[in-house]
Amino acid sequence: MLPTTKIDFPDGGSRGSARVLAVHELEAGRFAVLTDSTPFHPVDHTWPDQPGDTGTLGGLTVVDTVTAAGDGQGVFLGEDIPARRGDPEWSWHVAHVVEGEPPEVGSEVDLLVDAGYRAALSAGHTGCHLLAFALNAALADRWRKEVRADSLGSPDFDSLAMVRSRILEGGSIDEYRIGKSLRKKGFTAGELAADAPGIEQAVNEKLAEWCASAAKVAVRSEGPLLTDLRTWECELPNGTASVPCGGTHLGTLAELWSLRAELTVSEDETGLTIRTSAERG
Ligand SMILES: [Zn+2]
Repeated sequence: MLPTTKIDFPDGGSRGSARVLAVHELEAGRFAVLTDSTPFHPVDHTWPDQPGDTGTLGGLTVVDTVTAAGDGQGVFLGEDIPARRGDPEWSWHVAHVVEGEPPEVGSEVDLLVDAGYRAALSAGHTGCHLLAFALNAALADRWRKEVRADSLGSPDFDSLAMVRSRILEGGSIDEYRIGKSLRKKGFTAGELAADAPGIEQAVNEKLAEWCASAAKVAVRSEGPLLTDLRTWECELPNGTASVPCGGTHLGTLAELWSLRAELTVSEDETGLTIRTSAERG
C-alpha cells in the first residue's frame, strides 16, 4: 500500500518538491499524479465545500486537485472512493489532475500552487466559518431546548441545520434547512421571512466587529498527514472560535477589508441561503 500523503497547505504552504508515487491515466489526456507530499489542497470527496487547488506540477498544468484512496490493489478518485473518509485500512492521497505527458514514477517534481486562486478561496473559507459563529449568536434566543453549543457558547444552528456549503473565491454560499426535525430539536422559526432583515443586520454587525479585530487565524494539525485531524481557530475578542476543518485559511482577519452576509429565505420558509462576501484589503 502507498504511504498516505503528507500535506503542508494547513500552514499556508503553496510550493514544494516531492517524489512521484503513482500515475493514473484518466479520460481526455489527463493523468492523476500522486506524490509523497504536497502543498496542494484537494477537494474532499464526502464534504466538497472548498474546491481543489490549481497550479503546476513539474511544469505541467494542474487543472484540479482531488482526494484519492488506495486499498493496496487499486486507487480510487473522488466520488468513486468506496471507503469512509480516513478509513485506516486505506491509504489516502492528494491526486493532482494534470494535462500532458506525466512525470515518471520515482522522479522528483516541483509543485507550485496558484497563489491568487488559493488566497481568494482562503478568504472565502475564513469568512464562511465566521458567518457560522455570527449566525449562531444571532439565532441563539430562538432555541427552547438545550442543543450542542459552538465553541463560543451559542447553540450550534450552523451544524444542526446545514445542508450544503460552497466556498467561492472571496465568499461562500451556505444552505440551511429549517424543517420538522430542527423544530423538534427546539428551534423556533417564527416569522422567518419577516425577521430575516433583523437577523441579517445582527449577523453583519458581528462580522464587522470581528473583521475590525484583526484576530489571528490558524489551522492546528494533529500530524502532517492528509488524514490527521485539523482544527480551525480564530482568537476573537469574545473568545476563541474553533471548528474541525480540512480547508485553507487566511493568517489573520487583518487581511480582510470587509465581510458581509446576505440572507434569502425560501417561499415556504423552510430554506435559508446565506451568501457571504469576504473582500480582501
Ligand atoms: Zn472549514
